Amino acid sequence: MIPYGRQDITQADIDHVVEVLQSDFLTQGPQVPAFEASICAATGAAHAVAVNSATSALHIACLALGLGKGDILWTSPITFVASANVGLLCGADVDFVDIDGDTFNMSVEALADKLAAAEAAGKLPKIIMPVHMCGQSCDMAAIGALAKQYGVRVIEDASHAVGGALNGVAVGACSHSDITVFSFHPVKIVTTAEGGVATTNNAELAQRMGLFRSHGVTRDPDLMEGDSDGSWYYQQVELGLNYRMTELQAALGVTQLTRLAEYVARRNEIARRYDAMLGNLPLKRPGKLDGAYSAFHLYVIRVEPDQRRAVFDALRAADIGVNVHYIPVHLQPYWRKRGFKAGMFPNAEAYYSSAISIPLYPGLTDADQQQVVDAIKAALA
Ligand SMILES: *Cc1c(COP(=O)(O)O)cnc(C)c1O
Repeated sequence: MIPYGRQDITQADIDHVVEVLQSDFLTQGPQVPAFEASICAATGAAHAVAVNSATSALHIACLALGLGKGDILWTSPITFVASANVGLLCGADVDFVDIDGDTFNMSVEALADKLAAAEAAGKLPKIIMPVHMCGQSCDMAAIGALAKQYGVRVIEDASHAVGGALNGVAVGACSHSDITVFSFHPVKIVTTAEGGVATTNNAELAQRMGLFRSHGVTRDPDLMEGDSDGSWYYQQVELGLNYRMTELQAALGVTQLTRLAEYVARRNEIARRYDAMLGNLPLKRPGKLDGAYSAFHLYVIRVEPDQRRAVFDALRAADIGVNVHYIPVHLQPYWRKRGFKAGMFPNAEAYYSSAISIPLYPGLTDADQQQVVDAIKAALA
């Protein structure tokens, strides 16, 4: 089986993890700050807070922005369920903004319309969470301008997009957002096995996310109420969680990140080859946003909805590990019980009915790619 995604682990990764395993610290040592510094260097963000998953990072991002009961979060229906779930976990209500049918990212027009209607109804969201689907940035200048206009905060779910850029600015720089989140699950661009990070240029948000990551507890006298009892002293000043990344995960991340640019360049090379090889077939290739350099976590083709199931099954039968990203969140049973229905986000639903993610990862060889393309040709014939 040629999988749709796969990690790349080198001897340097293994050596570094083993070295840390034999060191004094398995958690709360120097590797997590080193990994955070590497993320800041790669993105240009001033602060990075590493945690045990992107889901955790999205959760502490919402907590740091004060999302709670009576508040509203909007995200895209074409995302992994975690983007929406974290809003509910904070006690807020969650709604969705339909996608653009070409880039699969949150539609700026749909967002503008929905914000205008929400303002008129006195129900503006506190946070909007655009998702950089497949690794291609949303139109962040436009989304950031709308957020400013309506006084809404922005968290970028860039789980797919570390190493990507928009108009020459790295995703994660937070030029048009409060916080950006990356995932380091093994199918993503670089991995820490499980892991995530939140970047921000706001020192106070970084500090608050640091508190929520570790029980709401601090040893920093500046964050304490009253005086310290002594050098053993700590205080709990918030209600937090244990979302810490281990030293082993961070050690893997540090060496993985040294190859970030190389990985994303290779992913773009594979995507360009797909563009050329699939050009004459009866399918739609992914749309591009001007100025975007995608990290190409995924390459999604679209076929006629009445053919999708047969094409998918034929590819699986040919040992091609295709997948579908994503089932629209609002159509999941849990969300239907909250009142969402088919027909509410037509572009997302049309996208879902036609989408197939085909294999894309740095270790995919030209021969593998030819095998994938031949299988697609046969499946469509
Ligand atoms: C993978 C992913 C997540 C969750 O990431 P984890 O690190 O597995 O928690 C969230 N949002 C999107 C868009 C993702 O692809």
